[in-house]
Amino acid sequence: MEIADGIEEILLDAQQIAHRVAALGTQISADYQGLPLLIVVVLKGAMVFAADLMRQISVPLQVDFVEASSYGEETETSGMVRVGRDVETDVSQFHVLLVEDIVDTGLTIRTIAEHLRARGALSVRICSLLDKPSRRRVEVSLDYLGFEIPDRFVVGYGLDYAQRFRQLPYVGIVRLE
Ligand code: 5GP
Repeated sequence: MEIADGIEEILLDAQQIAHRVAALGTQISADYQGLPLLIVVVLKGAMVFAADLMRQISVPLQVDFVEASSYGEETETSGMVRVGRDVETDVSQFHVLLVEDIVDTGLTIRTIAEHLRARGALSVRICSLLDKPSRRRVEVSLDYLGFEIPDRFVVGYGLDYAQRFRQLPYVGIVRLE
């Protein structure tokens, strides 16, 4: 695989990702047997992961989307996350599986999970492709995880840097100039 301009190093190649996504799909299919499952994709970053993951899940499911945004200049220190686009589905009828690209401080996914619990979801679990545990600020239980990665800024497979690189088939470390 040719490395794209602006990428320093490939961290996870397409084959490694596909292999892990298939295993997650098998695990999720076993766990949600007979349960009404709603996949909630966290936009925009998780869309590529979610599209691949759901095709590896054999139990019936529905799909919806949320978008979260940070507000204020000092997101990291204020830790304020707002749910923007909300789900349209009545979550009180479903066991929700939140699909996220990466969990860093944990603030985004915790806010979304709490929001869906408050809306009455039967259960809320989290499936993240990537985890950067070294930067965690709030405790989050990741029920399904693709890969733990070091504290580097990564792009590709849905993840962006200034809206670029989402279409790369691998996860790579961006060259920050
Ligand atoms: P948290 O709220 O857990 O700190 O941050 C989660 C969000 O931060 C992710 O959904 C993602 O948008 C962004 N993020 C954190 N680390 C990275 C990274 O290495 N690369 C990219 N592209 N986004 C990241």
